[in-house]
Amino acid sequence: MAWDFETDPEFQDKLDWMDEFVTNEIEPLRFVLGSPYDLSCPKRQKLIPPLQEEVKKRALWACHLGPDLGGQGYGQVKLALMNEILGRSPHAPIVFGCQAPDSGNAEIIAHYGTDEQKARYLRPLLDNKMVSAYSMTEPHGGSDPKVFTTRAVLDGDEWVINGEKWFSSNARYASLLVVMVVTDPDAPPYNRMSMFLVPKDTPGVKIVRNVAVGTGNEDGSHGYVRYTDVRVPKDHLLGQRGQGFVVAQTRLGGGRIHHAMRTIAKVRTAFDQMCERVLSRETQGELLAQKQLVQEKIADSWAQIEQFRLFVLQTAWKIDKYKDYRMVRKDISAVKAVMPKVYLDVFSRALMIHGSLGVSNEMTFSAGVVDSFHMALADGPTEVHKITVARQILREYAGTDDLFPTTHLPKLRQAAYEKYAEIIEHEVAAN
Ligand SMILES: Cc1cc2nc3c(=O)[nH]c(=O)nc-3n(C[C@H](O)[C@H](O)[C@H](O)COP(=O)(O)OP(=O)(O)OC[C@H]3O[C@@H](n4cnc5c(N)ncnc54)[C@H](O)[C@@H]3O)c2cc1C
Repeated sequence: MAWDFETDPEFQDKLDWMDEFVTNEIEPLRFVLGSPYDLSCPKRQKLIPPLQEEVKKRALWACHLGPDLGGQGYGQVKLALMNEILGRSPHAPIVFGCQAPDSGNAEIIAHYGTDEQKARYLRPLLDNKMVSAYSMTEPHGGSDPKVFTTRAVLDGDEWVINGEKWFSSNARYASLLVVMVVTDPDAPPYNRMSMFLVPKDTPGVKIVRNVAVGTGNEDGSHGYVRYTDVRVPKDHLLGQRGQGFVVAQTRLGGGRIHHAMRTIAKVRTAFDQMCERVLSRETQGELLAQKQLVQEKIADSWAQIEQFRLFVLQTAWKIDKYKDYRMVRKDISAVKAVMPKVYLDVFSRALMIHGSLGVSNEMTFSAGVVDSFHMALADGPTEVHKITVARQILREYAGTDDLFPTTHLPKLRQAAYEKYAEIIEHEVAAN
């Protein structure tokens, strides 16, 4: 009987330390630092590396990785419990060495990279001495990678890349771009693309602009990147030619579930804020907490968060059990599909409960509402993941040739009469 919903005390001690460390040392950084990915910022370089050293000393560095790559090999369930804390701050994942998209990019270089590629890129990425971007989506289409047109052509010993990529997060801070490109346009759709490692300082790489999420006019961190006659040596291909989709799937499975783990942290914070507010604010002579429509918001939010958390933890447990993302594709896609709704619902309720303060830029709720759409889009839109879930589920079912369903009551009743015919007939005869 192995159902157990408790954390062992030894690991709980680590989580308790993390909780305090994130609250006291990391959460305040958002008010004094810009992007945690900006390695060129002297203030950032003064504040983040000492915290990273502290994390390494505590054996909590890069916990998404196995010991062979400098991680702890804790597995996904423990990582989920950690991410439930780290998700509270945009600066926490980088302090703990498990930030996206570097984590996923490092994972595919570890998996598919040659020794030379690993020596050049993997170690600096794992040590956060280098920042990377993942450049897959194109301006004319993201949900369907089969429409991508960015093209690489072999010219002697070099690949020449031409095309445009859209929303390459952190491209402005990155020195390495992991780019998915068409190399074999006449091959079957899923064998047309290959993955490349492109140093950003390669001539021909240009950031057209840095797009921001939300409504402000300021620069953002999602690169609209143009590749014009970008030449990289042949050995900058990551994995086999035509294997781009396979490489992409290797990184996206982990990325999606890690986003979900961090989302738990965010919705829990909003929930705590909501509870504090309803117990502090009075209207019409009573606390908001005493209004039944407000109580409904609290109850619905709590239940949604608990359901979501258990779903994420169970999926993490399955990843640890099967050690193969393909076996949990349905679960990860379903988690990915429900995540933005939980995020949006809880943040919308928290915003509403805080009234005008809630919608203002003096609280984080409106940013959270917009960020829920980030979670709905990045790594594939909700609709596409729902399609994956439905397709996978329906593989486990079969239709019936009968006119009526197999569970049609008259049919079941007839079967039951036949099964118990002898007893029924005996009873009838006796009466
Ligand atoms: C904050 C953020 C960060 C991102 N970071 C990166 C990154 O680092 N690298 C990168 O390469 N990309 C990144 N992306 C891009 C992301 O992967 C794409 O936004 C996503 O794949 C959707 O592509 P699209 O935006 O082109 O939307 P489209 O493909 O134009 O789709 C638009 C909408 O159509 C609907 N839709 C699409 N397909 C279907 C379908 N089959 N059935 C029903 N409805 C459908 C959905 O509602 C979808 O939102 C990021 C996106 C965001 C928002």
